[in-house]
Amino acid sequence: MNEMKTINHHLTDQLLMGYSSGNLPEAFNLVVATHLSMCDECRAALDAYDAVGGSLLDTDETSEMDSSSLAATMKLIAAKPAVKKSTPKSSLPGPLANYIGGDLESVKWRPVGMGVRQAILKTSKKASARLLYIPAGSAIPDHGHKGTELTLVIKGAFSDKTARFSAGDVEVANEDIEHTPVAEIGEDCICLSATDAPLRFNSLVPRIVQPFLNI
Ligand code: ZN
Ligand code: ZN
Repeated sequence: MNEMKTINHHLTDQLLMGYSSGNLPEAFNLVVATHLSMCDECRAALDAYDAVGGSLLDTDETSEMDSSSLAATMKLIAAKPAVKKSTPKSSLPGPLANYIGGDLESVKWRPVGMGVRQAILKTSKKASARLLYIPAGSAIPDHGHKGTELTLVIKGAFSDKTARFSAGDVEVANEDIEHTPVAEIGEDCICLSATDAPLRFNSLVPRIVQPFLNI
């Protein structure tokens, strides 16, 4: 799905390096792998990080590789086997379909208020992952972040004060960003989200229910 769609918001280099070196929590790995399955551009960038491996991380930006090591690197990139395409039968991207073991129909949604529903996915405790179902025109209450929040759009689109995000786009939010993501009118929005710290809600009601909803 979505191969032909234009993706405007990508993974950061930091996330790609973390994924390549195996240093991300499981919840972040899931979001990164799912975006990669939808995005040729980030897949190409990841191939380069994979090929160069840790050696690039140890050198500072001003040092240059000599031409023979560059040639070796390019050879490695060329030799890398193509990434497996997503499971054809599911409407979900392959890594996500594999992770939840089925399609959207098999997701057990729970209401979190204001029409928004979520399904928490089983991952290691270092970070949490969830699917969010935001009905067209509805919003996730205004909040800030204590850590990093990755939000990947699977279907539909949402906007916040920073930009518009549609299928395949990923928003990387951190301590500096406070936002109110609103699903676009016309289509319900489904997102895959990962956080490594609880959100900071700015109004009282979400704050009161937060501990019960594990967000
Ligand atoms: Zn990308
Ligand atoms: Zn957020």
